[in-house]
Order: sequence, then structure tokens, then C-alpha cells
Amino acid sequence: MRHILIVGAGQSGLQLALGLQSQGYELTLMSNRTADEIRGGRVMSTQCMFRTALDHERDLGLNFWEERAPRIEGLGISVAGPSTPGGHPRVIDWVGRLDGHAQSVDQRIKMAGWMETFEQRGGQVVIHGAAVSDLDVLVRKYDLVLVAAGKGELVSLFGRDTARSPYDTPRRALAVAYVHGLDPRPEHPDVEAVRCNLVPGVGEFFVMPALTTTGRADILFWEAVPGGPADAFQDITDPSEHLERVLELMEHFTPWEYARATKVELTDAGCTLSGRYAPTVRHPIGRLPGGGLVLGVADVVVANDPITGQGSNSAAKCAAVYLESILERGDRPFDEEWMRTTFDRYWESARHVTKWTNTMLAPPPEHIVHLLDAGSAFPAVAHRIANGFDDPSDFENFFYEPEKAAAYLEEVREEAEAAEAAEAEAEADDVAGDEAEVEADDRAHEVVRSFR
Ligand SMILES: Cc1cc2nc3c(=O)[nH]c(=O)nc-3n(C[C@H](O)[C@H](O)[C@H](O)COP(=O)(O)OP(=O)(O)OC[C@H]3O[C@@H](n4cnc5c(N)ncnc54)[C@H](O)[C@@H]3O)c2cc1C
Repeated sequence: MRHILIVGAGQSGLQLALGLQSQGYELTLMSNRTADEIRGGRVMSTQCMFRTALDHERDLGLNFWEERAPRIEGLGISVAGPSTPGGHPRVIDWVGRLDGHAQSVDQRIKMAGWMETFEQRGGQVVIHGAAVSDLDVLVRKYDLVLVAAGKGELVSLFGRDTARSPYDTPRRALAVAYVHGLDPRPEHPDVEAVRCNLVPGVGEFFVMPALTTTGRADILFWEAVPGGPADAFQDITDPSEHLERVLELMEHFTPWEYARATKVELTDAGCTLSGRYAPTVRHPIGRLPGGGLVLGVADVVVANDPITGQGSNSAAKCAAVYLESILERGDRPFDEEWMRTTFDRYWESARHVTKWTNTMLAPPPEHIVHLLDAGSAFPAVAHRIANGFDDPSDFENFFYEPEKAAAYLEEVREEAEAAEAAEAEAEADDVAGDEAEVEADDRAHEVVRSFR
């Protein structure tokens, strides 16, 4: 039986460890923290995951919190207009329905729970912060060493891929607070949705429902342009002060979100987080001083900014691809060529995430603003953009190039006109008049009804 070492007990490391374990592989998992330390520690993410990534967890029977976590049925975008004496008005505002629901389960719950499950099933957990010198020795004892240690120090083993990393400094300063007591969005009180608020020049503010250690909560998450007015958390260590700052910024830049946040309270002592990092793609194979090779997993090799909420999704997709590749390899060696091919398979999906995320970090070109704007008038556009969060490869078809965006919007307009014409025709028919009215009414309320 093949012996595999996985360093790092996060989304990718644990999902892969549990997947391989269920196939009879002998696994050692090295984590720098115990399950209790993770559970009782600080939040690490907002970890909203969409259907495809959740399906990878379901395939392995790891969706332990599915029934308890809020079902996120929609994804909405609002854009703040220029400042007026009355504050920032909303110039764009819509919500699109997700074809499959999304969920955010606090990584403190999930990683602690998965680590305990792995141990209960006979897996070996070593609590140790691995250093390069450790790996240099360990690589000789295992058939394969996978480094799934996130954005920690071990990334130094993997060179930056400059061709795939357009930014070498952080593009956003991040500030997260988990709260209880947030009111629903009045526009769709019965629909749980991730709300993305874009504030040009300032950054983005996200709100998302989640399951945390104290039950159902909402996450307030500022992504601030460095040096801008929302980049205001560097000196704050006190969680209450952190929340106060989050709320001040909401009141000023996204008053429609602040209006439902006047009664919020922090969920627990570890529920705030701030920091920043440069989005980086790395070469996937690390060469140790003694010549041994290790393969990087998920954030170690592709760390995108969380502006598009993709890192955990990508980690789940990466773990699924690596699992398949390891199983296919059978008894043959995990050599350099296999490592490269395995990463390339993952890059097939990760490249779309990276392109989209890096696009969203830059000020949007006019055609993207038109697309976002069209989401208000056309539910089909809102639906397509919302579901791009699950499958970002679709953005290639309509998002990046002005010509493709224009062609898509033209198509949507024509379809809407045809639907309107059909509606008018039906209304003109005296006999079927009442029925047509009911149908038209039904269509008009289609989006709202479909959420129920
Ligand atoms: C503020 C914020 C918001 C985010 N929001 C979202 C979102 O909404 N949706 C989404 O999909 N993604 C989101 N992400 C990204 C997502 O959290 C990460 O991309 C994802 O967790 C990466 O998984 P991973 O397995 O690669 O690494 P991690 O989850 O970082 O796990 C790595 C593990 O390795 C351990 N470790 C580190 N060094 C060592 C060592 N030397 N030895 C042993 N163990 C070690 C760490 O303690 C950790 O447990 C967000 C990230 C941030 C920072």
C-alpha cells in the first residue's frame, strides 16, 4: 500500500486525505494546529462554496453540515454611485438565482470536524509545523509528499510563476467580522443571498450567510483598495473596535447594507480577521535541498484574492483532481512528469478563476459595467453572472471582450423583445385575455417566485 504525507489540514489537505483514506491509502496528515485549537481559534475565511465544489464534498460523504448551514439561493450585485450630500446611492442592484445553492461553513467547524473524522477512521495526524528541513527527511519515507499548507512559509519551496502572476503586491486589504442579528435584505427577505457591493475606488463589501461555531450568522467582509478610505484596519486589535470600523464604513459607503446592521453583535472572540496578500501563482513542484520533490496543492500554488470568493472552491476542485490523478496512477511512481500533469489538470479550471479574479481586481472596463448594469433590466444576465461564481469558465464566453459582451447583450435584448411581443399579442386576444394577463404576471414575477 502506498504511503502519502499531506502537510496542511485545510480545505484541500483534509478533503484529499479523507478521499484517499476511503480508498485504502495509508495517510499521514501534518497540521500545525490540533482540531481543538482550530475550533477555538480565529476565523480564517468567509469560505462561501458553490455547487460544483460542494458536490465534491458530497461525493466523499463529507457534507456533514449541509442541513444546518443556511442555503444560499441567490447572489446579488449592487454598485454604489458617486457620493451625494445624502450619501452613496445605489446605481445598480440585482440578485440572480443560483442553479444550485451555495453554503459557507466556518472553516473552524469544518476543518476541526474533518480532522477528527480522519483520526477516528484510523488516519495518523502529526501536530507539527513542518519546515523545509523536515520535508527533506520525510520525502524519503513516503511515496508522495503533498504540500497543502495554504499561504504559509512553505510556499518558499515553490517559485513564483511570473507569467501567470500579474500582481506582485496585495490588491486589497481584507477585514472580516462574523455577526449575529443582521436583518434580511428587504428586497428579498425570504431568500438567503451573498450580496456583493462594489464601491468604485474604495473596494468591495460582501455580506454572506454562514454557519459558525455559535450557530447561524452573517459575515461582513470589506475588501479595501490599499491606501483608500476603507483600508482602515491595520492598527485595530480589539474585535469590538474592528466591528465598529466595519459598520462606520458600511454606513458611509453602503447605507442600504448598514440599514439592516444596526443591531448586530460579534459572534465570538475569534470572529474577526484582517490582513492582505499578493495574489500569486507558483510553479507546482518544490525541489528540496536533498533533491526530493514535493507537489503543491491549492493555495500553495494558486492563491487568488478572495474578491471573487473562489479559494475554497478551488481548493475543493484541486483536491478532487489530485485524488483522481493519484488513484489513476496505481502503483507507478509519482515522478516529476506525473506531478506536472496532475497540476496541469487542475490549472484547466484554476486558470479561469485566476483570470476572472485578476480582472475583477482592476477597475472595470466599460463593457463590464454595461454587463453588470444589464443585470438589473434582464434577469437572464443576473442569472448568468451569478452562476459564473460556480463555473467561472463561462465568463470566457461573454465577459472579457467588448465584442462578446455586446453580442451577448444583443441576444438577451432580442429574446426580451420577443417575449414582450408575445405578451402583447396574448393581451390583444379578447377571449384569452384574462389567461394572458395571468401568464404575463407570472413571467414578471418569475424570479421572485422561483426563490420560494
Ligand atoms: C478573508 C478571506 C475570505 C475568503 N473568502 C472565501 C470565500 O468566500 N470563498 C472561497 O471559496 N474562498 C475564500 N477564501 C479563500 C479560502 O479560504 C482559501 O483559498 C482556502 O482555505 C485554501 O485552502 P487550502 O487547503 O489551500 O489552504 P488553507 O485553508 O489555508 O489550509 C492550510 C492549512 O495548513 C496549515 N499549515 C500552514 N503551514 C503549515 C506547516 N508548515 N505545517 C503544517 N501545517 C501548516 C494551516 O494552519 C492551515 O490549517 C477567503 C480567504 C480569505 C483570507
